[in-house]
Amino acid sequence: MWRATILTLFPEMFPGPLGLSLAGEGLAGGLWSLEARNIRAHGLGRHRAVDDTPAGGGPGMVMRADVLAAAIDAAAPADDARPRLLMSPRGAPLTQKRVREFVAGEGVVILCGRFEGVDERIIEARALQEISIGDYVLSGGEIAAMALLDACVRLLPGIMGEATSGEEESFESGLLEYPQYTRPRDFEGRAIPDVLLGGDHAKIARWRHDRAVELTRARRPDLLARRGGEER
Ligand code: SAH
Repeated sequence: MWRATILTLFPEMFPGPLGLSLAGEGLAGGLWSLEARNIRAHGLGRHRAVDDTPAGGGPGMVMRADVLAAAIDAAAPADDARPRLLMSPRGAPLTQKRVREFVAGEGVVILCGRFEGVDERIIEARALQEISIGDYVLSGGEIAAMALLDACVRLLPGIMGEATSGEEESFESGLLEYPQYTRPRDFEGRAIPDVLLGGDHAKIARWRHDRAVELTRARRPDLLARRGGEER
């Protein structure tokens, strides 16, 4: 079973949205597991402190390396093969390719930062891979971890209804997805494109591919450039 372990100061945030819909049904059905562990259990002193002021001064608080090390070691012993991730705006951008790699493994261990972030030494000492979900700053890593888990879990075997759904989606081919339509045939004077109702599957596939390229060129030329030279 694919296992997710989350280290957080707010374990009550989980499973949250991951307890509903596809991910939630998969969780209830034993297709994956989620354990949210409270970092504060490893906090120091009477107040279970997990953070302290930044060395060198500056605003906010920094999560202590010794506390985080204890939390990580209790959750994932050295022989645990799962990647150890730190949600971080400085991290490598999360991509569908990266999601596929996580899904192919045994699961993930995710450390969620709070305050100004974590002491740099824990990243080195526990070989944490920093992952970002975008170029903006959240107040904590929990929502970022949920985004990562949601992207992974929907790809696990047995979660999505049709085994093939997912393969034609945005980013899987290096393109954004083509436009989708459903009933009614006419909506406020806007018709579904004729080609989609004609039943010629080769023609439909070509139309969809062309629209996908067009959309990608208009909105995300960086994706087309990255795709350049690849087979697909
Ligand atoms: N001072 C830090 C930001 C800390 S935000 C900086 O400037 O880089 C607090 C926590 O929220 C971070 O430790 C991280 O776990 C999480 N976080 C914030 N933005 C994120 C993003 N874009 N992707 C992933 N995690 C993020």
